[in-house]
Amino acid sequence: MAVTRRTDPMGVFPSTRADVIVVGGGIGGLSAALALTRQGLRVRVHERSSVFGEVGAGLQLAPNCTRILDRYGLLEEAASLGVLPEAMVMKDAVDDDDLTRLDLRDLERRYGYPYLVIHRSDLHGILLRACERAGVELLTDAHCTSYENVAGGARVRFADGGADEAEVVIAADGLHSVARELLVKDEPVSSAYVAYRGAVPFEKVADNGIHDKDVVVYVGPRCHFVQYPLRGGEMFNQVAVFESPKALAGEDDWGTPDELDAAFAGTCERVRKGLPLMWRDRWWRMYDRDPIMTWVTGRIALLGDAAHPPLQYMAQGAIMAIEDGWVLGEHVAAQRARRTGDGSGVDWDAALAAYEAVRPEHCRRVVTTARAWGELWHLEGVLRLRRNALLRGRDVYDYSFVDWIYGPTALVPEDEPEMFQPIPLDTVPL
Ligand SMILES: Cc1cc2nc3c(=O)[nH]c(=O)nc-3n(C[C@H](O)[C@H](O)[C@H](O)COP(=O)(O)OP(=O)(O)OC[C@H]3O[C@@H](n4cnc5c(N)ncnc54)[C@H](O)[C@@H]3O)c2cc1C
Repeated sequence: MAVTRRTDPMGVFPSTRADVIVVGGGIGGLSAALALTRQGLRVRVHERSSVFGEVGAGLQLAPNCTRILDRYGLLEEAASLGVLPEAMVMKDAVDDDDLTRLDLRDLERRYGYPYLVIHRSDLHGILLRACERAGVELLTDAHCTSYENVAGGARVRFADGGADEAEVVIAADGLHSVARELLVKDEPVSSAYVAYRGAVPFEKVADNGIHDKDVVVYVGPRCHFVQYPLRGGEMFNQVAVFESPKALAGEDDWGTPDELDAAFAGTCERVRKGLPLMWRDRWWRMYDRDPIMTWVTGRIALLGDAAHPPLQYMAQGAIMAIEDGWVLGEHVAAQRARRTGDGSGVDWDAALAAYEAVRPEHCRRVVTTARAWGELWHLEGVLRLRRNALLRGRDVYDYSFVDWIYGPTALVPEDEPEMFQPIPLDTVPL
């Protein structure tokens, strides 16, 4: 096992210098470490926790992610641990009516790669094992407290007094990133929505009228409910999301289980049957941040949620993090000369500039569209009816609203596709 605890709290750690330090061993940090190690770099990951792991339940991985997993040689393993659903179905949470669907087999033909759902810990484990095989140095108990640029690279310092240096530091330290403070003094933006999750053995939902081969999203007034199978169908994942009245009222204690039950009281029987199975002892308050277009300062670069935490309505947060690492890895390959002495041979100014030229704009689009999708999903009254009419009228094989996301990840700004232009709801006849 390559995972090591930090052992040199007082000095610059450790004796051998890595080319790249990655702070944060979540899905973003590990996939970036893998991408850079594949280019022949020596990469060290510093993770705050005492073990590498992921909490939470399922993740949806669209073709713009499975394409990259395939390039890493990890798609087969991911498919064997996950599920390839047949369809993505959107339904009205109040009356249970079908609104629209994506045929995921046809979608796979269109984009060349599957739509996959997988347990978070399984994806994290796949990336962790791939990092171990590739020779990434994986360190735990490393709570990074500060970042600074130094001659020829960047330095990080840790809560226990230690430090580490490399040519480049990638900050993949999540929503509450310490490194982000170097670039912008912003705060996470509360959506006043909260998510409950729950992954349970399939038997527990077998009599609930569920779609066992599909991803189903029930959209409702100020709430939505997501269901899909996991682990080859042995498990079933549910996510219940709602707007918290206590959050809107400025109360600290928001998102509690009584609010969950109240938020879904007016939904259809199929949704209500799922609610008792949610984990009720923890919930995730949902924050994003306003997009920023500068992710690099000197030799310190943001990646993943540290750079672009989204609301999860497009299911693209982890995917964007994986894309970030892929893009950076490709630019490193393009900007790399031969290793000289201690130097990696990478023209980091060029590689980081190329990364920053393309990723912030893509992620800005996803973060802002996710906010808009949230508003669309949670409509009530006449706007809900107009939304439903719009979705019912969509041709099942019209991919214009996802082409700009699910196609190949752009490496340069010229390859970034046009965004889908939303249809104004007030033009939709009832
Ligand atoms: C309900 C919900 C559903 C979602 N569904 C999807 C989905 O279907 N598909 C999808 O693509 N995305 C989804 N997302 C989003 C996705 O989970 C995140 O965008 C993604 O996990 C971000 O990964 P990350 O590695 O950038 O950050 P994180 O997962 O937050 O990892 C950060 C890591 O850094 C470590 N760390 C933090 N601070 C420090 C420090 N100071 N020093 C050292 N280490 C540190 C942490 O311990 C952690 O391991 C969902 C999110 C939610 C809330």
